[in-house]
Amino acid sequence: MTTDQDAPRPMRSATAHKAALAEAEARCKARGEAWTPPRCPTYELLLAAAGPRTAYELMAGLKRGARYVGPPTVYRALDFLLAIGLAHRVESRKAYLACAAPGDPHTAAFLICDRCGRTDELLHHLDDWGPAPAGFVVRAVTLEIRGDCPACR
Ligand SMILES: [Zn+2]
Ligand SMILES: [Zn+2]
Repeated sequence: MTTDQDAPRPMRSATAHKAALAEAEARCKARGEAWTPPRCPTYELLLAAAGPRTAYELMAGLKRGARYVGPPTVYRALDFLLAIGLAHRVESRKAYLACAAPGDPHTAAFLICDRCGRTDELLHHLDDWGPAPAGFVVRAVTLEIRGDCPACR
């Protein structure tokens, strides 16, 4: 099966893109963290992408001139973005997506089109399912819903 991760998907307007970048920087600084490369350019690439991006695709985008950006650098930046809620990992694709609503505490669920690979985030609150069984500590949630997107139906 071939997928096209650049399948049409509502893109952020230039204004929304700038606002998202400013919000991300504020979020980072509020935690006393530095909003410096490779964190900011990695986030910018995710924000501009039409779909999930793998670490290797991001690595290619981060390459400046002849300077090589290695996997540890990109993974460190991605881990940071995940930790502060600016990005999510789409497990089945081993790829990353900019969070659609960083200000809203949520766990992400994804709607993934089987035909074109389009991936949309569904804001999801774990509490909607009721309390976890006594003594169970949730560490990670992976929710992926597969189907056909409107363009492929
Ligand atoms: Zn999100
Ligand atoms: Zn599709």
